[in-house]
Amino acid sequence: MDLASYAELAIELVNSSDPAEDSLRDLDSLQRLLRIRPHLGGRVTRRDLDAMRELRDSLRAVFTAAARGDHADAVDRLNTLLIQHPVQPQLSGHDGQCWHLHLTESGSVPDRYAAGAAMGLAVLISDRGVDRLGVCAAEGCGNVFFDTTVDRSRRHCSPQCAGRSNGIP
Ligand SMILES: [Zn+2]
Repeated sequence: MDLASYAELAIELVNSSDPAEDSLRDLDSLQRLLRIRPHLGGRVTRRDLDAMRELRDSLRAVFTAAARGDHADAVDRLNTLLIQHPVQPQLSGHDGQCWHLHLTESGSVPDRYAAGAAMGLAVLISDRGVDRLGVCAAEGCGNVFFDTTVDRSRRHCSPQCAGRSNGIP
């Protein structure tokens, strides 16, 4: 995993709050969310579930601050997360891969998730700019995204939401 790709953890977690399919509604749904990240696996408890919900709110607040143009607030919030959840970097070379950096080898599942997500976002922001964080403009969506377009024109989380906003059924 390269460092910026850890930011996907933040986006996936924030976007897991779809009211129809909330991925943090119980321990089973949390296990399913984590299953696609084997390095973040481990036993989770009710307390971990609460911590993941809290983390989701904190990460969403970073995106909404950035999207409303309050970049200092977004960065402050992210810096707080970086302090609360320090990374524990380790070089790893498993499964025939080249040596690469793992950010989070120990601690509880929410701590490791938080450390990876916050560091990934921090790397992306320092590389590309805090104004790249966005919240979907489609009515009733609220998903977040990282805008990688050349002209910073992205307004929606997905082609589906873009189509909906443009009146395409
Ligand atoms: Zn959307």
